[in-house]
Amino acid sequence: MVLQIYNTLTRKKEIFTPLKNNLVGLYTCGPTVYHYAHIGNLRTYIFEDILKRVLLYNKFKVKHVMNITNVGHLTSDSDTGEDKMEKGAKREGKSVWQIADFYTKAFMEDIKKLNIIKANIFCKATDYIKEQIELITKLEKKGFTYIIEDGVYFDTSKLKDYGKLAKLDIEGLKAGTRVEFVKGKKNITDFALWKFSPKDKKRQMEWDSPCGKGFPGWHIECSAMSMKFLGETFDIHCGGIDHIPVHHTNEIAQSETATGKKFVNYWMHGEFLNLEKEKMAKSGENFITLSTLEKRDFDPLAYRFFCLSAHYRSSLNFSFEALESAKNGFEKLKNKIWEIKKEKDKVKKEIKEKYREEFLKLINNNLDMPGALALLWDLIKEKEISGKSKLDLILDFDKIFGLNLKDIKEEKIPKEILNLVKQREKARQERNFAESDKLRKLIQEKGYTIEDTKGKPIVKKGV
Ligand SMILES: [Zn+2]
Repeated sequence: MVLQIYNTLTRKKEIFTPLKNNLVGLYTCGPTVYHYAHIGNLRTYIFEDILKRVLLYNKFKVKHVMNITNVGHLTSDSDTGEDKMEKGAKREGKSVWQIADFYTKAFMEDIKKLNIIKANIFCKATDYIKEQIELITKLEKKGFTYIIEDGVYFDTSKLKDYGKLAKLDIEGLKAGTRVEFVKGKKNITDFALWKFSPKDKKRQMEWDSPCGKGFPGWHIECSAMSMKFLGETFDIHCGGIDHIPVHHTNEIAQSETATGKKFVNYWMHGEFLNLEKEKMAKSGENFITLSTLEKRDFDPLAYRFFCLSAHYRSSLNFSFEALESAKNGFEKLKNKIWEIKKEKDKVKKEIKEKYREEFLKLINNNLDMPGALALLWDLIKEKEISGKSKLDLILDFDKIFGLNLKDIKEEKIPKEILNLVKQREKARQERNFAESDKLRKLIQEKGYTIEDTKGKPIVKKGV
């Protein structure tokens, strides 16, 4: 069955065909390690993980490269503002290197908790300065750069198809100049390849280059490192939709100018997570991280489950209430799986095949996760399959969901809850229904549900 994915470059869903037989080159823009990742960033990494799992499920081999931005990413996309790393260092009274190291580790912990498969290669921008300078030199030789007081810039007006990914209206941009403008910059869309160190102070991170001491612009690292590891043209490049107009647009401009070849065949972008209808920005005062969720007693995988409920190309509204209901859904799923484990094995081959086919159809239709989750619930209710056969199929689906369903354990019900259940039983026997209702509510508030059966009541985690 063919895999179809949505390509931002063509604005179409296309059949995916890798350049080299079976091997897929995948590059995903990684974190800027000056702070913890916020859950909006994490949604993008979950989407990319699902993509990778779908590729693997389709029997492709994947070479996945992710960069770690530890230099040169300014607080504004228009090459102005502070260096994010230096800002982080100042905030915490540490060196930029310490900051980078600390937040890289924190990022690795986050993705592990979210059951995200690690990239084959994680590359730090500062480890590939030489490659970035070489790329800039190539662009200089081709006459696409100019030097101003602030640094070396790419002249976007020399490129006929600049902005093709974002379908940028260059004339419109010129008319509505609202971005901060670097002095001496020729065109509004021109961007820094190399920024010079200030003359009067020493930066913590700076390097010598043929054009002067300084540090690389943010975009150049992704071009230099992706081409180093995946070749001048490769299959898939991903990121959040906020990368389309500037970061990815500039990656294309500089890479294609340097090589004269198409840079990437498929561009894929994950939509935003909205927090109270506003884009969550890491630079803002309060942002929610995975530890915030954990402190509120949410399992990171419940957040992953929450993200699966929306298609990656739809924005997703975050609230703690919405996460709470996802958490309950996830608990319910785990309980069902526990029940299935105890069932007798029963299977109808054609029904099993039907589920398999339907699942593949959904995931190969541009990663339809809400559809795949709905199918999972159908399977759970399916009467024609039970026990081990049903479980095998569920665990096969979980290769995509990544919810660690094989490791679920039966929830131990705490003594406190069991005592409340006993008291409620007693109240019911004494026909004290007001009291029994009160106790049921109390049990619910503590996150458990009672199902009354003919025999003993069943208590489950989740409401
Ligand atoms: Zn990037």
